[in-house]
Amino acid sequence: MKTGFKHHMEDALEYLTIPSFDETGLVAHCFTTRKGGVSEGECKNLNLGYNRNDRKENVTENFRIIMNQLNINYNDLVFSNQVHKDEIANITATDKGKGMIKESDILEVDGLITNQKGVPLVTFYADCVPLFFLDPVKCVIALSHSGWRGTAKMIGAKTIMKMVKEYGCNTDNILTAIGPSIGKCHFEVDAPVIEQFHQNYGQDANKFVIKKDGNKYHIDLWQANIIQFNQAGIKDEHITLANECTFCDEELYFSHRRDKGKTGSLCAIMQLV
Ligand SMILES: [Zn+2]
Repeated sequence: MKTGFKHHMEDALEYLTIPSFDETGLVAHCFTTRKGGVSEGECKNLNLGYNRNDRKENVTENFRIIMNQLNINYNDLVFSNQVHKDEIANITATDKGKGMIKESDILEVDGLITNQKGVPLVTFYADCVPLFFLDPVKCVIALSHSGWRGTAKMIGAKTIMKMVKEYGCNTDNILTAIGPSIGKCHFEVDAPVIEQFHQNYGQDANKFVIKKDGNKYHIDLWQANIIQFNQAGIKDEHITLANECTFCDEELYFSHRRDKGKTGSLCAIMQLV
């Protein structure tokens, strides 16, 4: 496994990319931070969620700033409403702009896949785990939003299976990455949550569930996703873990838990070029 995303700083703007994805030259992509935007208050500065406590004009300006850096036309962005489930949608050029400049009919979906160039996929985060996928041989990309519910439902492994079944990908070739999200240092849950992981992961759950005092547990969602990737057939050297906790780093990241819901949205963005 590889550890660490690359941080890029351009004036006030800061964003991250995945070194193994950069090396392919096939994608424009990033994970955003809160630095470099125009939003104020709880959404300061680079909020990318239209559903947050922010002005619409600010969010659009923030998208313009980051997409300009990535050389992506922000009017083309495609996104779904995310509902913490395991549905994954096939996206094509006909979907361009859905969610952004026209109403999205990509509903109840947490994962997006495409094999078409120039179709920028976007998923939203403020603690949940961003999963990135790239098959540089078949030229297929995917993003999946994997909070604890998505991780319990194994949306990561399901995304890989869909790439294999519907796009002819070989798991030997698929590069994966796990972006900044809430770490085991801060992700505390009660027994009913743990129960779902034990049901779906069996004995493997013991590798990422940490018992704390009382009826409390911490979950290492990154490790749970690594286990999924390994079991789906992804090579260890094709997994990159950002290893950054959104709750820990208030300067850089929005965190739903830390900010008690009063926060902005970060994005994973990727497009085949
Ligand atoms: Zn933390």
